[in-house]
Amino acid sequence: MRESLTVSSPDASFPPGVPARAVVDLDAIRDNVRALRDHAPSADVMAVVKADGYGHGMVPAARAALAGGATWLGVATAGEALALRAGGVTADDARLLVWLLVPGGPFADLVRAGVDVTVAAPWALDEVVAGARAAGSTARVHLEVDTGLGRNGVTPADLPDVVRRARTLEASGELRVVGVFSHLARADEPGHPSVARQSAAFDEAVRAVEAAGLRPDVRHLANSAATLTAPGLHHDLVRPGIAVYGLSPVPQVGAPGDYGLRPAMTLEARLATVKAVPAGEGVSYGHLYTTPRDTVLGLVPVGYADGVPRHASGGTAGPGGPVAAGTGDARRVLRVAGRVCMDQVVLDLGPGATEAAGDVVTLFGASDGVARGADVPNAEDWARAAGTISYEIVTRIGARVPRVYAGKEVQP
Ligand SMILES: *Cc1c(COP(=O)(O)O)cnc(C)c1O
Repeated sequence: MRESLTVSSPDASFPPGVPARAVVDLDAIRDNVRALRDHAPSADVMAVVKADGYGHGMVPAARAALAGGATWLGVATAGEALALRAGGVTADDARLLVWLLVPGGPFADLVRAGVDVTVAAPWALDEVVAGARAAGSTARVHLEVDTGLGRNGVTPADLPDVVRRARTLEASGELRVVGVFSHLARADEPGHPSVARQSAAFDEAVRAVEAAGLRPDVRHLANSAATLTAPGLHHDLVRPGIAVYGLSPVPQVGAPGDYGLRPAMTLEARLATVKAVPAGEGVSYGHLYTTPRDTVLGLVPVGYADGVPRHASGGTAGPGGPVAAGTGDARRVLRVAGRVCMDQVVLDLGPGATEAAGDVVTLFGASDGVARGADVPNAEDWARAAGTISYEIVTRIGARVPRVYAGKEVQP
């Protein structure tokens, strides 16, 4: 259902009649990957493009990340890996790893497509071998070890047996263990003791794998937060996701600009209606907001079905999500007035507002955030207003919002 318009500059095309759009600056993605390479000069970069490239569009995001020097791509699901291949991202373009598999998954298709598969539990070895046999080739396997996240990954108790069986299967040519990896629980709290504990557990797991005679090419542990704040954890490969899209994984420590990053997505909408109302008027479902004076309301045609979080409603519960309106001297950041509805939100534009129906407002874009004095909010500002993280803001932008690609990296 998503339509993707392709334009060379963000301003070139916002045709009247289009209620909202997410402009994705592919040059920002490319430049963010370059910046991440500078942060981790001794490692290769795996750009994580799961969840439709964190909502930015998986294939365009992958292409831009490769242009920035990523040599690996990472996705969560088999469907995502195969969609990248179907979208023309080949095994020659980049190594591709998928890590969240379930029994009965398309292992043969993955092996045939040259996708590296993760063994994160004992059952997966059998499925990988069956897939390799069906595909008639050798599966490339990364062992995922649970070093303390308590989520996916082989437990330390199961690791010796998994490693022993993997070694046997390697000898008979069904698979090759090309990687060992783990994932951090609290890398977004730099210096937290659990990070050092997980790092030590990872080193131990790598030793066990190598002691069994396996010779993985790559060891990898670092997500965006560790890539930016824990150089000791870079190993051979770093796996940044959110930072590729220009958002800070550690907003309490630094804004995007502090790390040489810039947000790639701008969410804009056109005011559908602008109208004068008297003081004391209840606004939107539940009347969480009442106009404090005679004022002008503006209706923004995006709502929770488009990914605008309902928790960022404004009124009795606190200030709503921020929206930049106006141009020049009239530029200001307003707060959503009242409930976020399925398809729309309301702004109190203020007495004497000069905005008209059809004018463009910006929910978030490429800035370090209004918390840092910017006049355009960023996704982190919305995350704060909704009590969540910027990841959830960008990945949830709905299919009804067209992604418009901008920048030199747009494929013709
Ligand atoms: C999502 C994910 C990443 C990327 O995490 P960010 O915090 O977005 O950098 C890396 N590795 C794994 C296993 C993941 O699931």
